[in-house]
Amino acid sequence: MWNYNIPVRIFKGERIIFEKKELLNNFGKKALVITGKNSAKLSGALDDLLKIFYEYKIEFNIFDEVEENPSFETVERGANLFEEYDFDFVVAIGGGSPLDAGKAIAALGSYFQKNADLFGKSDNIYKNTIPIIAIPTTSGSGSEITPYAILTNRENKKKGISSNRLFPVISFLDPRYTLTLNEPLTISTGLDALTHSVEGELKNNGRNPIIKSLSYKSNLMIKENLIDVNEKLSNIDFRSVLQEASTMAGIVISHFGTTIIHSAGYPLSSFKNAKHGISNSVFFVEVLKRIAETDKDRVLNSISPFNSIKELESFLYDLGIEEYKFELTDNEIESWSEDLIVSQKRKKTPGEFDLDFYKSLYNKIRK
Ligand code: NAP
Ligand code: FE
Repeated sequence: MWNYNIPVRIFKGERIIFEKKELLNNFGKKALVITGKNSAKLSGALDDLLKIFYEYKIEFNIFDEVEENPSFETVERGANLFEEYDFDFVVAIGGGSPLDAGKAIAALGSYFQKNADLFGKSDNIYKNTIPIIAIPTTSGSGSEITPYAILTNRENKKKGISSNRLFPVISFLDPRYTLTLNEPLTISTGLDALTHSVEGELKNNGRNPIIKSLSYKSNLMIKENLIDVNEKLSNIDFRSVLQEASTMAGIVISHFGTTIIHSAGYPLSSFKNAKHGISNSVFFVEVLKRIAETDKDRVLNSISPFNSIKELESFLYDLGIEEYKFELTDNEIESWSEDLIVSQKRKKTPGEFDLDFYKSLYNKIRK
């Protein structure tokens, strides 16, 4: 048994937003635009959007305060704007952080109760969420195609929310918007996409043929292209392939979610300033090796067309992942490992994991 559910209209191509501009005129006359500090402007995406808004006389407010690993406080500040304005739709521009914050702000603002518990379980709180349009400027998070928003709670822990209502109604994929990503950001976001593609397929294990194909193809595109990155930063074809791979990997996690590779990485982003994709990649191989102890075929299926864990390891090595080491205290290792023991993702990750294994993961990346 399997299902496929992606209620997102994707439009992809250079200058696609101009080709499809009439679609932006369908949602009402008042928009909230959500971005990070610089990249929406730097990438050119904000300018393009505003040209269309001026043409159609769509009024807008810009909330440009989204930080990396967006906090619940930021989401509340954005949602506060709904007390003053009656927004018809949200346009989120940026990497996974502004896209996720945009989804959560749309949900919380529409719910119109600042103290609402977005981490609660009931899907009811999302039911009035106004339409969300996504314009990604990174190729990695897949947020443009997922029903998730990953936020940082008041204890500085990353927590995901998920609802069908958080799927963007439209995503405009224009590879030009990713040309300004520098080498480290291109690598870290590209590797985030690779972990999504592999982690989702680890759970799928070939059962859903659509997801299997997307995972294989996305792994292949990243394997063949995420090399010699520095020479290709301004190559639009390279950017286009990575953007497609990332969206395909996003469809994979929309169906199967991620694994403890992602949960193990969260504290590195929250407390050690590591980029999200790096936080996952440093644990990638160790977790795969552990799963392979009990189910080697499952691991080989998930990383295909990498022919072995060793081949994947050497691909990551060439991208410099081995060099990432962090100052960690004994207390941090202890408490993060205990968090992993009770993490929901652990239950959903194939393989056997215990506290000692988690501690060994963190010890391995210790400076
Ligand atoms: P990000 O956190 O959104 O941004 C990282 C950095 O890249 C920021 O400094 C940002 O600048 C900059 N940047 C973005 N686009 C750029 C461009 N075109 N040119 C130059 N700089 C650019 O990065 P991300 O890796 O895409 O997203 C990571 C977040 O997504 C994490 O919070 C992660 O947990 C989440 N995530 C979500 C999902 C999901 O399904 N929803 C899945 C995986 C990960 P600005 O600050 O100026 O924007
Ligand atoms: Fe991720």
